[in-house]
Amino acid sequence: MDKTAHKKSINDFGKFGLVNHLTKDVRTGNKTTITGIGDDSAVVDSGNNLTLVSTDLLLEGIHFNLIYTPLKHLGYKAVIRAISDIYAMNGTPGQVMIALGISSKFKLDQVEDLYEGISLACEKYHVDLVGGDITSSLTGMTIGVTSIGTAGKNNIIKRNGARPNDLICVTGDFGASFMGLQLLERERKLFVKDKVTQPDLSGFEYVIKRQLKPEIPVSTLIDLKKEEIIPTSMIDVTDGLASDLLHICKLSGTCCRIFYSKVPIDYETTRLAEEFNIDPMTPALNGGEDFELLFTVPLEMVEKIKLVPSVKVIGHMTTSGSGNYIVGDDGSEVEITAQGWKE
Ligand SMILES: [Mg+2]
Repeated sequence: MDKTAHKKSINDFGKFGLVNHLTKDVRTGNKTTITGIGDDSAVVDSGNNLTLVSTDLLLEGIHFNLIYTPLKHLGYKAVIRAISDIYAMNGTPGQVMIALGISSKFKLDQVEDLYEGISLACEKYHVDLVGGDITSSLTGMTIGVTSIGTAGKNNIIKRNGARPNDLICVTGDFGASFMGLQLLERERKLFVKDKVTQPDLSGFEYVIKRQLKPEIPVSTLIDLKKEEIIPTSMIDVTDGLASDLLHICKLSGTCCRIFYSKVPIDYETTRLAEEFNIDPMTPALNGGEDFELLFTVPLEMVEKIKLVPSVKVIGHMTTSGSGNYIVGDDGSEVEITAQGWKE
């Protein structure tokens, strides 16, 4: 490894920079390892099919605050986060394993609530909880979820398959989860300051739900199959639309242009962003935890993709070196950049 790098703070790298730094010398040697680090899931050859494996870590105080996150919701979301990476490869999740670190501040009924949420998500997405580990923690709660899934050898969709002129497509809308979190944080601070017991969340049920109990757009994947549309690349939007789009561009060797007016943003997100005095496009591009799918399809699919109403085309891929831009209604172009250390 680069010796001068050892003196740097890990903050200088950013999340993705640190992952790249730590894993740049990692080589895979087993024939069964098809895809290693760098995509939504690892891909393992298991004979007739491919096995997909992904893991996610959630830390109290970093990824969740138990003051406004019910443990049942937390368990549900932990499973969603993990299986979302399997769907992002066009796979089907089958199993999850939970590694839990808990401190003595938790009571049994709280941990039961967490597992009730885990079970609910497993039931909804037809996934089995097949194992894990529980250990004591000094500082709070840690949840690690490993998800396992399968995909046919010809059905897998990676991040690196996009080509210039491909259409950039998305499901759902963006920025709602982030604004939900801002609202919960605001109410928490008000509570600490004034001891207001009843948080005022009325009119913002959608953004709260997007933050606390997200879902995965599985029906879109089914519709795409039905219309015989095979995306050239795909990723789940967890780090933010901008960041995840740039992941696809980087790995595919393309650049992109998306259109400001095409990025779907829910009315509640816009209304709340205005209340917070921020441009709704900021949480939409950089918020993260949307759990929507971002994928590309060949330009020839332009008519066919209209047959899937849950999908919106927001732009297109361009050739390498032409820059990544968001284009305003007046034709102005602003460069798309990714946030560094974001979770
Ligand atoms: Mg992912």
